[in-house]
Amino acid sequence: MIHIDASQGEGGGQVLRTSLALSMVTGQPVLLEKIRARRPRPGLMRQHLTCVTAAQALSGAQVEGATPGSQTLRFTPGPVRGGEHHFSVGTAGSVMLVLQSVWPALMLAESPVRLTLQGGTHNPMAPSFHFVERAYAPLLRRLGAPAELRLRRCGFYPGGGGEIEVDLHPVGPEGLQPFDLTERGALLDQQAECLVPGLKRSIAERELEVLRGQLGWTFDHSTIPVTRQNEGPGNALLATLRHEHVTEVFCAIGEKSRSAENVAGDVARQVKRYASSAGALGQYLADQWVLPLALAVWRSGRAARYTCTDVSLHAATNFSVIGQFLPVRIDTRPLPKGQGVQVEVKPPGDNAP
Ligand code: AMP
Repeated sequence: MIHIDASQGEGGGQVLRTSLALSMVTGQPVLLEKIRARRPRPGLMRQHLTCVTAAQALSGAQVEGATPGSQTLRFTPGPVRGGEHHFSVGTAGSVMLVLQSVWPALMLAESPVRLTLQGGTHNPMAPSFHFVERAYAPLLRRLGAPAELRLRRCGFYPGGGGEIEVDLHPVGPEGLQPFDLTERGALLDQQAECLVPGLKRSIAERELEVLRGQLGWTFDHSTIPVTRQNEGPGNALLATLRHEHVTEVFCAIGEKSRSAENVAGDVARQVKRYASSAGALGQYLADQWVLPLALAVWRSGRAARYTCTDVSLHAATNFSVIGQFLPVRIDTRPLPKGQGVQVEVKPPGDNAP
């Protein structure tokens, strides 16, 4: 049984999700204590409970402590099952976070998986559907774990009602292949999109205008996608930067009493911050990429590295939780000014500096 102090480091839901994912992958039972202990509403919330329910259903796990507000969870997984599964958060909680809790184990399952997930697709403080589809999934494909994601309906707080469908295919016989990702490569394309289902189009026009102004982008660089049936109300502003080796997606969520200028300023700041460093990955992708990469390093016995703009507390916490499940070493090294930070994941026994 692995004991995880879930209040360590950043101490949020990510400690739970990484622990569920790695417990399923390794078959090791886990006991989590002090879950979200320092959050204003501590313990498991609806969205976290859906992560536990999904992980439980997909691995036939025995679970104790999966109740609202619980700060202790015991999770004993069985073998992971493929097939078709449907999970609903029941609120506007993020389906992307539910997906990330089970994806690592499902990509190593022996049969294909189709997941239908309902809830929020564009949430504050969570990866958006577009981030996962454009930035995260292509890196997993390159690792040897193919996936297709489809957005059926956007879901926003407080209504929820979003739906995604995800097909995950088993890793091929050659297994996961870790690779280095130390440069972005040439910039191929940059695009801004404003989702405003159920709201006035003028909100999108203003957000895009401010964003274009702050980034010096032209009109050709922005779109307002058409709304699907039963979607919204909600607002997300996205900026996608497609480089040769990596795509990054920056997002801000609009809400009542938040001005269009503020939403646009938020995305512009994120894009400028990324542009001010040569690190291949932005701060969010950097904390999420380490998990699948560590799995590939562990299974293949080959080291791999990446560079990123910075190592956030989320990333440092994830490194530590991963180290409690997998026999890998994760070293970080600051690079010269403007180059970001290098993260290297080494298999057991690799003591090279
Ligand atoms: P937690 O706060 O512990 O629930 O973890 C939040 C997760 O969401 C982390 O993995 C973050 O990298 C991720 N995240 C938060 N905001 C964004 C964003 N704008 N784009 C992509 N990922 C995000």
